[in-house]
Amino acid sequence: MSRVLVIGCGGVANVAIRKCCQADDVFTELCIASRTKSKCDALAEALKGKTKTVVTTAQVDADKVDELVDLINSYKPDLVMNIALPYQDLTIMDACLICGVNYMDTANYEPEDTDDPEWRAIYEKRCKEKGFSAYFDYSWQWAYKEKFEKAGLTALLGCGFDPGVTQAYCAYAKKHEFDTIDTIDILDCNGGDHGYAFATNFNPEVNLREVSAPGSYIENGKWVEIPAMSIKREYDFDAVGMKDMYLLHHEELESLAVNIPEVKRLRFFMTFGQSYLTHMKCLENVGMLSTTPVEFEGHEIVPIKFLKALLPDPASLGPSTHGKTNIGCIFTGKKDGKDKTYYIYNVCDHQECYKEVESQAISYTTGVPAMCGAMMLLTGKWTEKGVHTVEEFDPDPFLDALDKYGLPRSENFDPVLVD
Ligand code: NDP
Repeated sequence: MSRVLVIGCGGVANVAIRKCCQADDVFTELCIASRTKSKCDALAEALKGKTKTVVTTAQVDADKVDELVDLINSYKPDLVMNIALPYQDLTIMDACLICGVNYMDTANYEPEDTDDPEWRAIYEKRCKEKGFSAYFDYSWQWAYKEKFEKAGLTALLGCGFDPGVTQAYCAYAKKHEFDTIDTIDILDCNGGDHGYAFATNFNPEVNLREVSAPGSYIENGKWVEIPAMSIKREYDFDAVGMKDMYLLHHEELESLAVNIPEVKRLRFFMTFGQSYLTHMKCLENVGMLSTTPVEFEGHEIVPIKFLKALLPDPASLGPSTHGKTNIGCIFTGKKDGKDKTYYIYNVCDHQECYKEVESQAISYTTGVPAMCGAMMLLTGKWTEKGVHTVEEFDPDPFLDALDKYGLPRSENFDPVLVD
């Protein structure tokens, strides 16, 4: 028996909600609340007769703490699942603290307006101290640790695939496969084709900000920063084949460096096709990725928001996307005094996802872990109070749930390593 409030009703939330409704013994009541209520109503209507979960809907502007507090106090959920955008993380965490409710999300905080002087001063200081310049980092949400601990509440951060499952893979490797881990390479491969010259697989604004940021990795406890897309490797992915992949900054590197401090080198690679990179570079060069408003024919527009309006809605890519994703982690280290390598990953098929939940695999591989993470909190498998990332919890029940609900793991005990 549980009551869950989901905030957001985009591509990822659509999958997470449909999967919650498959596990209707755990998710007995669920309220979908978002900025555009008609999207919540349409999903509730599509779920009618397919689940025992009692689904209701509400309108909320999650940038406003008082609106969130009113909604949470009236619905009285056991858990708030934030599947809106990273911009809303802090307001939703504030509201959860005020109302005494557990919190989870799928991506760490970043500000919508990166020109905000107050935020920028803190950002500049953080970049100098830590040595990476991506706009997103954990400091904002880690600052809530004591507040959540004192309130006896849990905040689970970044419970999608990457971040999310990749950290559970790391916790699993540490628990079962290694005495010490020396290196971790996280490899995110999307071998899918959506048929468009250019489109993003999740929210375009958030996606393009992430991908256009300088790359960085951790070596011997220090961040090494490199120009965007300047480290390229080729890898032959199971079920996908040979792909070009590029080193990116990614948020779980930051938390893994803290929680598995023995690791000497931590890197994240993502595959991109040449067409995506050429489009992105061009858009960046002409200023279309900027978050700074410009005056245009008497209107103020934010270039990246205008671009988002032009690009296909990621939630609409389901029918046209074919191919597979392969996301996982390669480890080197020692077990019983001997050198060991290990690769754990998931392969997911875009069209299979579409048949099941009317979505492509990127939303699927994010929405299913969000549901499984919520399940861990609601069924008392993960009970640690405070603010935590996925690798801080027991990976076993979570990976078992992923196996069961559509993202089964594969293993390779002799993988090709990335040089
Ligand atoms: P979408 O843009 O498809 O959906 C975002 C949803 O949030 C929309 O329903 C939107 O409403 C709603 N929303 C936005 N602002 C507000 C607000 N102020 N108040 C209430 N609702 C709001 O995004 P995705 O589904 O693609 O992504 C969702 C999250 O998942 C993002 O944080 C993204 O970074 C994360 N993600 C994580 C991954 C992982 O592996 N960990 C991978 C992919 C994504 P409206 O319809 O009105 O616009």
